[in-house]
Parts: sequence; C-alpha cells; structure tokens
Amino acid sequence: MVKAFVIDEADGKVTGAIRELDDSALPTEGLRVKVDYSTLNYKDGMVINGIGRLVRSYPHVPGVDLAGVVEESSDPRFSVGDRVVVTGWRVGEVHWGGYATVQCVNPDFAIKLPDSLSTFAAMALGTAGLTAMLAIMALEDHHLSPAAEHPVLVTGAAGGVGSIAVLALSRLGYRVSASTGRMEEEAYLRSLGATEVVARQELSEPSNRPLESARFSGAIDNVGGTTLGRLLGQLDPGASVASVGLAGGSTFAANVMPFVVRGCNILGIDSVTCPNARREAAWMRLSEVIPRVTLESLTSVYGLQDLDRLADEILVGHVKGRVVIDVNA
Ligand code: NDP
Repeated sequence: MVKAFVIDEADGKVTGAIRELDDSALPTEGLRVKVDYSTLNYKDGMVINGIGRLVRSYPHVPGVDLAGVVEESSDPRFSVGDRVVVTGWRVGEVHWGGYATVQCVNPDFAIKLPDSLSTFAAMALGTAGLTAMLAIMALEDHHLSPAAEHPVLVTGAAGGVGSIAVLALSRLGYRVSASTGRMEEEAYLRSLGATEVVARQELSEPSNRPLESARFSGAIDNVGGTTLGRLLGQLDPGASVASVGLAGGSTFAANVMPFVVRGCNILGIDSVTCPNARREAAWMRLSEVIPRVTLESLTSVYGLQDLDRLADEILVGHVKGRVVIDVNA
C-alpha cells in the first residue's frame, strides 16, 4: 500500500486527506521511486487550495518535487537503487507529485543526484534551490560577477527561493541586498549572508521617476508587480533582473527608460521546462556551493498531516525558508 496526501474536488471546492492507495492506483510511468522527501512551495499552496486551476483532473496527489530511490525502472538510464530528484515538468499539477511514499514518474523528468547530495539535502534545496541557482546562472550568462560595483538584490528574500538565493549568492562571493516585508527577519537574512536588508515598502511603492540612482548590479525578483518596475530603475547600466515569481502581483508596471537608456534586461526564469543538462549543472553547483549546516538551519521538516495548514500559511507569506515534507513520518 502507498500512503499519500490526496486532493479531490466536489462542488467546486478542493479538499485534501491522507489516504492509503493500492499500488494499482499509481500512474503507469517508467520509473517507480520510493519517495523519501518532498517539499512545500507557493505553487503547492495554490494546488491544495484549488487556486489557479493548475490541476487538470481529480483525485490528485500534489507535491511539485520529490527525492528518493529508484525501486523499478524500465528505462536504461536508471537502475534500481539510484538516488533521484524530480522537479518541474508540471509534476504535482498535471502529473501526480511527491506527497506519497511511492510515486511513478516519467524517466525524462528525473535527474540522478550528485554523490554529495543526500535526498534530504536535495529537498531542502528543492524546486526553490534549483530556481535560485538557475536565476544566478542566467545573471552570470549576462555578465554578472562578484566584482560588480553594487550588491545583487533579492526580493521576497525570507521565502524559499529568496533564502537559497541569498545564501548561494553570498557563498559565491557576491554582496547581497535582501528585500523583505518581514524586517523582524533581518538577523536571519544576515545569517544567510545578506550584507544589507531593505524593507519591502522601499521598493514596492510606485515612483514617478523612471530612473533612480543605480544601486543594484543585478536582481533576483520573486515578487513582481510594482517591485519589479521600481527595481528596474535602480539597476546599473547593462544589468539584468532574473524574474522568478509573482507573489506580489502579475501586472507589469514599468517605464521603458531602464531598457532604452541603461540597456537593462529582464530574464525570465522557468524551472518547469528548463532542459535537463542545465538542471544537472545547477544541481552540481548547488552541491558545491551550499554548506550543509546552513541549509539545515533554514529548513523545517513536517509530515503529510501538516500540509493543509502549511498550504494556507505559504499563500499569505508566513512561511520562512524551506519546508521539507517527510512523507514517511
Ligand atoms: P515563498 O512563499 O516561500 O516566498 C515568497 C516570498 O515573497 C514571501 O516569503 C515574501 O517574502 C514575499 N511575498 C509574499 N507575498 C507578497 C506580496 N503580496 N507582496 C510582496 N511580497 C510578497 O515562495 P517561493 O520562494 O517558493 O516562490 C517565490 C515565487 O517564485 C512564487 O511566486 C513562486 O510561484 C515563484 N516560483 C517560480 C519558479 C519559476 O520557475 N519561475 C519556481 C519556483 C517558484 P518576504 O517575507 O521576505 O517579504
């Protein structure tokens, strides 16, 4: 039997419960994985609460990522006993996801873990860590380096992507400016390596000046909305913002001047359909850069029984750092 957190829809309302599933209920995909851990992400909060119509059919097992050990494989790329991580490709939305003790996944979605990453560390990083590293790699492809004149800004810094971005950037030698709506988390953000902490309002209030003094050499933006528009006007000439998330709104409210006068760029980050070679490079880099002890310090571990409550909390920005779900707890 498989234990899983299953959501179902009735009269337009989505509800979730822990259920015992027969093996035959699992999808018929080429890779059967004994799941050790999954995680909670903003998107999981949306799926569990039935927001955004991300799920195509019910009943459904959410969880946008998972890490575990291959139990059965019909694919020559994977052997029994391989440790794998699965993120993106709409796992947990279109396909059944990680909130189960066993899951069957498309082998094309799986990546073998580097030797130095445990399945726990892989999920402490999770989709958020992968996305943060993809954002850093995109900025570096556009000439960002630790020698840059100003710090790199990370918005929504106390959240999952934000926390790993701050930590990874600082470990790579960048100065990091962390923007947060929770100034009480200043000490936490500094412990991850932020060199300055900026209050959210400072960047989210609209300005009638299309260009301001340049103060950031790059940015990783998890918030969007007025924050994205405002930070663009504060970038160095030629600098880029990696646009990751829209926790603060999807309306793009910006002036064209940062692009035309300063040659700035917006780089869209898509961890869902990113090619596997790029993912493998990002996981390898994460394994080299992120210190295990610090990663554990920003991670909380919960069980399947906590998902309903956590899903509500992440949607209102009350979750700090990374949340790992121990599906066997
Ligand atoms: P979290 O909920 O962990 O973090 C989001 C953070 O954004 C919060 O902690 C908070 O930071 C800030 N925030 C929340 N609500 C608001 C608001 N109304 N206005 C301004 N800031 C707000 O989510 P994740 O870190 O998992 O994801 C961050 C974003 O990135 C989400 O939008 C998510 O959907 C997206 N995402 C995109 C991916 C991609 O491939 N492009 C992959 C993964 C996530 P603070 O308290 O510090 O202010």
